[in-house]
Amino acid sequence: MADRLPPKERTKIPRQEMPEQDPLQRANNFLEVNTGFDAALAQKEAQRCLQCVNPHCVHGCPVGVKVREVIDLVLDGKYLEAAAKIREDNVLPAVTGRVCPQEHQCEGSCILAKRFAPLAIGHIERFVADYEQRTGQVGLPPCAPPTGKRVAIIGSGPAGLSCAGDLVLQGHQAVVLEALHELGGVLAYGIPEFRLPKAIVQQEIDNLRKLGVEFQTNVVVGKTVTVDELLGEEGYDAVFIATGAGLPRFMNLPGEHLGGVYSANEFLTRVNLMKAYDPQHSDSPVFDCRGRSVAVIGGGNTAIDAVRTALRLGAAHAWLIYRRSETEMPARAEERRHAIAEGVQFLTLHNPIEFVGNEQGLLTGVKLVKMEPGEPDESGRRRPRPLPDTERTLPVEMVVVAIGAGANPLVQTSLPDLQTNRWGYITVDPASMATSKRGVFAGGDIVSGSATVILAMAAGRQAAQAISDFLKDGEWPNVVARGGECESNYP
Ligand SMILES: Cc1cc2nc3c(=O)[nH]c(=O)nc-3n(C[C@H](O)[C@H](O)[C@H](O)COP(=O)(O)OP(=O)(O)OC[C@H]3O[C@@H](n4cnc5c(N)ncnc54)[C@H](O)[C@@H]3O)c2cc1C
Repeated sequence: MADRLPPKERTKIPRQEMPEQDPLQRANNFLEVNTGFDAALAQKEAQRCLQCVNPHCVHGCPVGVKVREVIDLVLDGKYLEAAAKIREDNVLPAVTGRVCPQEHQCEGSCILAKRFAPLAIGHIERFVADYEQRTGQVGLPPCAPPTGKRVAIIGSGPAGLSCAGDLVLQGHQAVVLEALHELGGVLAYGIPEFRLPKAIVQQEIDNLRKLGVEFQTNVVVGKTVTVDELLGEEGYDAVFIATGAGLPRFMNLPGEHLGGVYSANEFLTRVNLMKAYDPQHSDSPVFDCRGRSVAVIGGGNTAIDAVRTALRLGAAHAWLIYRRSETEMPARAEERRHAIAEGVQFLTLHNPIEFVGNEQGLLTGVKLVKMEPGEPDESGRRRPRPLPDTERTLPVEMVVVAIGAGANPLVQTSLPDLQTNRWGYITVDPASMATSKRGVFAGGDIVSGSATVILAMAAGRQAAQAISDFLKDGEWPNVVARGGECESNYP
């Protein structure tokens, strides 16, 4: 238990660094990079909190975690109570403590950040979530008495899980239908083991199971069963669509068909679901990167994950090719720093224009052109433009294209009366997440386009509340407006 210091004293404590595996060692294994705070570090960091009367960090968190109260409990050494407090608003604390872009959310709003480093809220969240799991005393909140209402949730990513968790707390039956054999969505098949171990995702899903959420895998809604059947003979009272944006996107460049060119989706899914990260399964038929030169194209989290994965699979050279500058990359700052320390070579302000191959149809290189920042685009960033006469070919044997992804289409194509935008994202009423079809709600990446875990979770929460209201009074909002305004998320 730590004493509350006077505010001036608190600001004298430097932000506590997250311990991590040595970069050169970790570049050769899939063990977690960040090794986590212990109680002493968590206490010391918590002492830095100014305990603001109006805590901006809470407003900065899309699911509204009561950060100030959590920190107070940590200072009292009440770690289990702190974890339970987080669980009131966030069903995946061990996940969000690891992968949230805190610098743009809770920590981005921390008042300390005006003059000092912000409070390491994410690291403290991870510590209490892991502490709770280690002691086996998970503080699951109580559920309301059963209402007898059943809700089908399509997709087991963060949006689906968050919605399911909130629905069971309100006494409804929540059944998650997942197309794949593994649960968790991108948390399971996208984000690599060295950032988010599968065991952590599994443990949070087990917690939801204990709360009463039911899961069915290998159910492809739109093929195995339709939404109309779910609402009809299957007897569900409402449906929440949380199918994500996992459709691979390519650049339509010459040579894209060559052997050795992959989408990030295929690359990461195969590595994750075929367990290439696990030495026990290293004979699995995944990508042989050993001794090869691999280039990944893109600047988002997916690109950084793919290039660091290639490095761990034994690539001799792992290039990251991005058309803007490093500071403009949307990937988390921490991941960029980690990648560079591990030996990833950044080739920024470069863009591919062609993939080059040999007579056997195998990739031998990628033709690149240099870029320069041009006029600002709609996002306010300067649109990169090619510099004439700057072409060169980088010899590589494998390329992973990580330039964003599109809407997963199956549910929409099997449900013609569901309103979508021209890129296939589902349109919803932004207040209630209600779609154009009565009883059907949608949220997460399938509405917003590729975003973040916590935003998907926030959408799941918002939908759970709206579904609960609908189940109570049967009233259907008549405003159906917008959603999924993105065409391409190539950053
Ligand atoms: C490689 C990678 C790294 C990322 N890193 C981060 C990060 O560090 N931090 C962060 O905040 N965000 C990160 N993101 C983004 C984040 O993971 C997503 O925004 C988030 O997972 C979206 O959640 P979701 O629930 O909407 O969809 P998803 O997580 O995509 O889940 C959708 C689920 O629906 C299932 N499904 C699809 N169609 C059907 C169907 N017809 N029937 C049944 N099931 C179906 C899918 O199999 C999937 O399991 C990353 C994304 C990727 C791809």
